[in-house]
Amino acid sequence: MCVLVFGRQPGYNTVAGGRAPGAAPPDIWFRKPGSYDCTLEKLGCLRRAGIRSVIMTTVSGTNIDQVPGILDAVVEAGADVFAFARYCPTSGEKDVGIEPLRYRQLLADCDAKFRAYQAAGCRTYFNRKDHLWTLYEYETGAFQLPAGAEPGMIYGGCNCGNCHLTILPTGDVYACRRVQNSRVGNVFEERLADVWIGEMERYRDYGRFAKCARCELLAYCRGCPAVASGRDGDFYAADPQCWKEVG
Ligand code: SF4
Ligand code: SF4
Repeated sequence: MCVLVFGRQPGYNTVAGGRAPGAAPPDIWFRKPGSYDCTLEKLGCLRRAGIRSVIMTTVSGTNIDQVPGILDAVVEAGADVFAFARYCPTSGEKDVGIEPLRYRQLLADCDAKFRAYQAAGCRTYFNRKDHLWTLYEYETGAFQLPAGAEPGMIYGGCNCGNCHLTILPTGDVYACRRVQNSRVGNVFEERLADVWIGEMERYRDYGRFAKCARCELLAYCRGCPAVASGRDGDFYAADPQCWKEVG
């Protein structure tokens, strides 16, 4: 059994802040006061009950400097899995607020910590969730383009249109829960199979990716179109944190 300590319910929130040793815990404005400590404290309850815990945090320009500290706190608290993803601008703001190379530096810093913790036998599994990890690992040599890959085949990266969808309690189907305006149907009104081979086609037009279509990592990455589309609703826009220069 896996419990995802995630969401916006008071007391069981994504760890959305970090703190320096000895400093007061951060209370993010959209969480209840004390949510940071409460989340970490509950990891012990889950462990004693034999339930696996997953901590996911959201990274933006506001808290990027705190993420390595959050990682340390999560390991110390004994979480089973840790991952982070980028904040997805869906409200008034249109920007994650992170320069591409600053984001790459975060990945490098976290990669070093992940490796050190793993070498020390740490119980936490580090999920490299953001697809820009593929770009990072391509540059470091940890990921190589597979020999014999079939042209036109999608092998990994963003799951939108190829292996996931979101169904809301209303029955509304979204291509991705993080892509605003990506409603593709309703399960109470049509067959899911029809939605999958019909409206979902709008999210499989890989040649339309403004930047990725010209990148050798197209079949393995595509960044996060939810973050890209946060700016102006264009699913196929360039990922704002992708630092790769493509011709
Ligand atoms: S251009 Fe697209 S596919 Fe290439 S590294 Fe950037 S986000 Fe990934
Ligand atoms: S749009 Fe982003 S969050 Fe949605 S499936 Fe693709 S990578 Fe994941």
